[in-house]
Amino acid sequence: MPAGPPPRAPGTSGGCLAVLDPATCETFDEAPDQRPDELDAIVGRAHAAWRGWRADPAARTTALLAAADAVEAAGADLAPLLTREQGKPLAESYAEVARTAARLRYFAELGPETQPITDGRPVRSEIRWRPLGPVAAIVPWNFPLQLASAKFAPALAAGNTMVLKPSPFTPLATRLLASVLVSALPPDVLTIVTGREPLGARLASHPGIRHVTFTGSVPTGRAVARAATASLAPVTLELGGNDAAILLEDVEVERIADRLFWAAFRNCGQVCMAVKRLYAPARLYSQVVEALAQRAKSAVVGSGLDPGSQLGPVSNAPQLARVEHYTALALADGARAVAGGHRLDRPGYFFAPTILADVPPDSPVVTQEQFGPVLPVLPYVSLDGAIEAANDTGFGLGGSVWGTDLDRAEAVAGQLECGTAWVNHHAETSLAQPFAGVKDSGVGVAGGPWGLYGNLSPFVVHRPVEV
Ligand code: NAD
Repeated sequence: MPAGPPPRAPGTSGGCLAVLDPATCETFDEAPDQRPDELDAIVGRAHAAWRGWRADPAARTTALLAAADAVEAAGADLAPLLTREQGKPLAESYAEVARTAARLRYFAELGPETQPITDGRPVRSEIRWRPLGPVAAIVPWNFPLQLASAKFAPALAAGNTMVLKPSPFTPLATRLLASVLVSALPPDVLTIVTGREPLGARLASHPGIRHVTFTGSVPTGRAVARAATASLAPVTLELGGNDAAILLEDVEVERIADRLFWAAFRNCGQVCMAVKRLYAPARLYSQVVEALAQRAKSAVVGSGLDPGSQLGPVSNAPQLARVEHYTALALADGARAVAGGHRLDRPGYFFAPTILADVPPDSPVVTQEQFGPVLPVLPYVSLDGAIEAANDTGFGLGGSVWGTDLDRAEAVAGQLECGTAWVNHHAETSLAQPFAGVKDSGVGVAGGPWGLYGNLSPFVVHRPVEV
């Protein structure tokens, strides 16, 4: 049996959230467990701050660029804290800090454009874009800073203010980020609130909120959407995924194996658009399974603070329990763990990188989002069957196709039902691209100019050409 105390969700002690280090299971700090009724005053202040913040786009650009510099300068404080509470290797935490700064810079320079309406009538009409007001943001624990910045950078650049709630598992780096941003942003433009439910539910339904933007699981996304009906605030939902990768007959297995492995296992597989199911041609099946198993067995798993670690622990106890459960179900249904398949016998929420072969296609590890360091590999005989299987899911976040003939691979990628498809890559995104899931994976569009306009409402002015 693995060592370490039994898994538990974040607890509270005296109005505080206890924060655990997933590499040790030990509480190392705490954050305020704020009460939902505190939101009235907080949202009120966000509304008051909005008046000044929306008025001066040039001042906003200056402030957001200064914010980016401040984030970058605080990397040596932010990154270790992020690793401590979330578990990911330190280099990935630094990368997350860098992406947070990059996103601030990108949106700082991106203003909405006034657009003329030309329809032949003798009127001059134009669309000006206006900010909405205080925005509520709720984010998960897998990329706390990056996902927070994906919310506040476009919202603030558009002239809104924001109240943002991180996951109770990972409140600390986000709170530190807020204290870093104090030097650059006016008071109450961005407020971080921390606490257990129903804090998020209350935030999503608060009457002073004009837009709710959420990233997290599908069930919570539905709850958030329901909560927002109270104020009729529009919602943007970035939800879960169960991305498939399809290997084509002409794929060079050894050439892509490293990239494919990390597309599934980076951040312990706790990436919304990680490869979560892999379809390989039957002829190549054993070779693919072996190549991935070899990488899984040689991946260095350890505390994210140890510079040698390539994979940290699973981030929290409920997540570890989910990974263990789905893996156990698959093994009970006849799957083979060619690598891993179990917790590691040491303190902390460590799970061995796992490659599952011979998995029944209807096993939950294939059909659900397991969100952990586990990859089921499934053989296919007909490519049409593989495409059908890839699309046979309620999720629709991302997908990828891997092969040597890039045109053919792109044509197959074009048949995937998802928001982003890659050829010979997975999960690489650009700040300038729209980011959206189809089916249950999301509502609305984030990223790029679309993310900015999602935080604005059109204001149309008509006037006659002549008096
Ligand atoms: P979660 O849905 O459990 O929690 C997300 C956030 O919602 C947390 O801050 C949580 O405290 C809060 N919350 C919980 N109940 C709430 C309620 N009733 N009302 C309002 N807020 C509530 O998700 P998680 O386990 O933290 O994160 C993992 C999920 O996030 C996965 O499904 C993953 O795919 C998804 N995700 C999606 C994207 C994307 O861009 N599409 C990115 C990252 C993660």
